[in-house]
Amino acid sequence: DVSPVVVDRDIDTTNMQVSKTEVAVEIIGMNKWFGDFHVLRDINLKVMKGERIVIAGPSGSGKSTLIRCINRLEEHQKGQVIVNGVELTSDLKRVDEVRREVGMVFQHFNLFPHLTILQNLTLAPIWVRGVPKAQAEETAMLYLERVRIPEQAAKYPGQLSGGQQQRVAIARSLCMNPRIMLFDEPTSALDPEMVKEVLEVMISLAEEGMTMLCVTHEMGFARQVANRVIFMDQGQIIEQNEPEAFFSNPQHERTKLFLSQIL
Ligand code: ADP
Ligand code: MG
Repeated sequence: DVSPVVVDRDIDTTNMQVSKTEVAVEIIGMNKWFGDFHVLRDINLKVMKGERIVIAGPSGSGKSTLIRCINRLEEHQKGQVIVNGVELTSDLKRVDEVRREVGMVFQHFNLFPHLTILQNLTLAPIWVRGVPKAQAEETAMLYLERVRIPEQAAKYPGQLSGGQQQRVAIARSLCMNPRIMLFDEPTSALDPEMVKEVLEVMISLAEEGMTMLCVTHEMGFARQVANRVIFMDQGQIIEQNEPEAFFSNPQHERTKLFLSQIL
């Protein structure tokens, strides 16, 4: 077998339906430069509601930059990025509108070290959304239960393991009730024994029908959970396919080389 399984239970695909009509993200002829450096080249990508997409590719190929363009942590210079029907432009109202719907989880968990776990989860709902404190705390506890660490609510990030901190970061995103989740190598900074607990949380999100774009080197996760794998190299989408075909029958030399190195 070319990639290890992540979980040895059956994954419940009941709610993992890909919409035929509802588009979550559409990227059309998108290009981006960092100064003179052409980092993203002619990106075309349509993500339907309910898709679980894994983005793979060598370091420096533009994976992070691509997903950061989806919530405008990076600006593109040419082409269109449309999220839930809203085109991202320099209009900050639209950027806000899109960010409300798009959660993001990073390699380094980016929790506020001086706030408790509960405070990390309620900060944005209270101050950005105007949710009453008691209600924000109730929601936060629900999501901490979902990621199976309600008992950590009163602790500070530094008192938690890396895996626990990443689960808090996912719960924090979910508190904002996103329709799309972006993951940028969420398990790359974790000790091996903690990778599985974070992937389990991501799998449970997929089982509930969340639209997800995940940059990850976890090819077992790609195989078990993704409906589509996208391979990037040098700022371009080189090839994309269903996981089965992607792993068993890669088309391009660069994809073959990448897979031979990673698997
Ligand atoms: P990946 O996530 O696939 O490793 P990135 O999207 O982080 O790739 O980076 C793609 C390329 O863009 C790399 O060559 C990187 O050095 C460069 N890059 C990333 N961010 C910046 C930036 N803020 N300024 C200039 N170059 C950048
Ligand atoms: Mg990256």
